[in-house]
Amino acid sequence: MTLSILVTGASRGIGAAIAHDLAGRGHRVGVHAGRDAAAAEAVRATLPGAGHAVVVGDVGDAGACRRIVDETVRELGGIDVLVNNAGIFEAHPVGTTSFEDWQQAWRRTLDVNLLGPANLAWLVARHLLDRPSGPEGGRLVSVGSRGAYRGEPLTPAYGASKAALHSMTQSLAVALAPHGILAAAVAPGFVETDMGRSVLDGPDGDAVRAQSPFNRVATPADVAQAVAWLATEAPLWVSGTVVDANGASYLR
Ligand code: NAP
Repeated sequence: MTLSILVTGASRGIGAAIAHDLAGRGHRVGVHAGRDAAAAEAVRATLPGAGHAVVVGDVGDAGACRRIVDETVRELGGIDVLVNNAGIFEAHPVGTTSFEDWQQAWRRTLDVNLLGPANLAWLVARHLLDRPSGPEGGRLVSVGSRGAYRGEPLTPAYGASKAALHSMTQSLAVALAPHGILAAAVAPGFVETDMGRSVLDGPDGDAVRAQSPFNRVATPADVAQAVAWLATEAPLWVSGTVVDANGASYLR
């Protein structure tokens, strides 16, 4: 069965790898970008299969979330699965950040990493519950972070946003199970993308790679496989899970 899947933040990094993995499994993908429509279009153009779409909008804006979902439904003919992947990681260490910048970092991080996924989850859940064919096959998968458990000393709002995202996933898993809808998350450790590039290329790069006994960080494809499995093939019975994808760098 071909599923219609909205992947947020799919213009690069982990999201682009998720889009490729899902398209390779024969599904139709809504390739979403925050701003960079050209990058999203470049990803769409290289996806295997047909019927994929590009959607653009700031997930930190509730009105834009509605437009993103409406446009994806129009372009793909519906949404079976939401992958909440878009996120930001902006430094605001407590010792050196002004109070104004601290507040701004918290607000923006929670808007994009938590309220955006929450709004998109509501919109897609409503779409699944209201569509004539019903919610069968519906899934909500979010990309969280190891930082939710291990702490994020330089980006505390990020760690808090991901802990809340995991918790939201578990609450939605319980609330939506009676409708046959799965909710689950993946919590990656460090991944080779733009987000962690400055750390990985800097003096701490080797120490970060050594956090995993595999002595490397994840490729986007490593994480994408876990997300794509939850989004398509995983049994409904794993609903509510948060899958660690951190190369055994942190065990809980
Ligand atoms: P990335 O390379 O920085 O890409 C971020 C993606 O999110 C881009 O497609 C970007 O689109 C989109 N985006 C950013 N701000 C947005 C906004 N306000 N509204 C809508 N879209 C927005 O990130 P990544 O490393 O692939 O990370 C993907 C997810 O994995 C994130 O949720 C991140 O927290 C999580 N994660 C990453 C790591 C890591 O080490 N990289 C580790 C654990 C978890 P534009 O470029 O158009 O803005």
